[in-house]
Amino acid sequence: MVRLDVTPRVNLALKVTNWCNLNCAHCCERSHANEPFNLMPIDKIERYICEFKDMGIPVWDYVTFTGGETMAPYYIGHHKYIPTVADICAKNNMSACFKTNALWGNKLILSGSILKSLADIAHKHDRQISLDISIDEYHDNMNAAANVVNQIMNSQYLSAAFPVSFVGLNTPASQYKYQEFANILRQRGIYVDQMDSDGSIIMSKGNNLNVMFYEIGTLSRLGRAADNELTQHIPNGYTDCLMITNDDQVILNHKHKTTVANKTIGQVYNELIQKKR
Ligand code: SF4
Repeated sequence: MVRLDVTPRVNLALKVTNWCNLNCAHCCERSHANEPFNLMPIDKIERYICEFKDMGIPVWDYVTFTGGETMAPYYIGHHKYIPTVADICAKNNMSACFKTNALWGNKLILSGSILKSLADIAHKHDRQISLDISIDEYHDNMNAAANVVNQIMNSQYLSAAFPVSFVGLNTPASQYKYQEFANILRQRGIYVDQMDSDGSIIMSKGNNLNVMFYEIGTLSRLGRAADNELTQHIPNGYTDCLMITNDDQVILNHKHKTTVANKTIGQVYNELIQKKR
């Protein structure tokens, strides 16, 4: 019997901006509020996603949006940018996952508008949209992140739309910060309990129920993390990570680099995979 290889081999991350309203010591990108917004154009995002899913090898069915701060467009009045890219993902049968510092949770009207606009896309396509919020000793964002989670847990419409991941680091300080964060959520009337050793957490408030996740991330030997000697070993995994930046660089596994130029994403991946071997 011939078995088909259907295990996904590569995932796609799109770095939409290098602007960020935090200035964390462990930032692998040197993101900062003085960086230009320089958002990745929507037509490029659409092209990358279409070409990625048609690469001819098994790929993961989600797109990670990273930065800088992915919600940057909202800070400069581009309220349609993020819902539009989530919509493009869903139309291509991909799930959108936004990495965010969640600082927008400090502005409740803005936060409500961000969550509603994304939940509308999630419900329209019957496909959840993930938020990845970093909770560790370097991010100064716990109250803002708790506001975001609280808004989600106050609404059945929002709870059904968003699985949230809290991403920490493999350090005792990070574990302590996560426990502190869970206690802040409890003070807001949210029931929080660890469900499983795989990191899933059950949360409930009133009749609203959500399963969220606590994941451990690693730091690349790049940017301020390298400057401050905060890097950690990244184990070689089976899945390749293909990141495309807002200045048209393509980076495989945080290491091998080229430019997009006129190549398709499949051609770029094949070029970079030769450097990996
Ligand atoms: S680590 Fe994340 S939140 Fe901190 S400065 Fe970098 S992009 Fe911003």
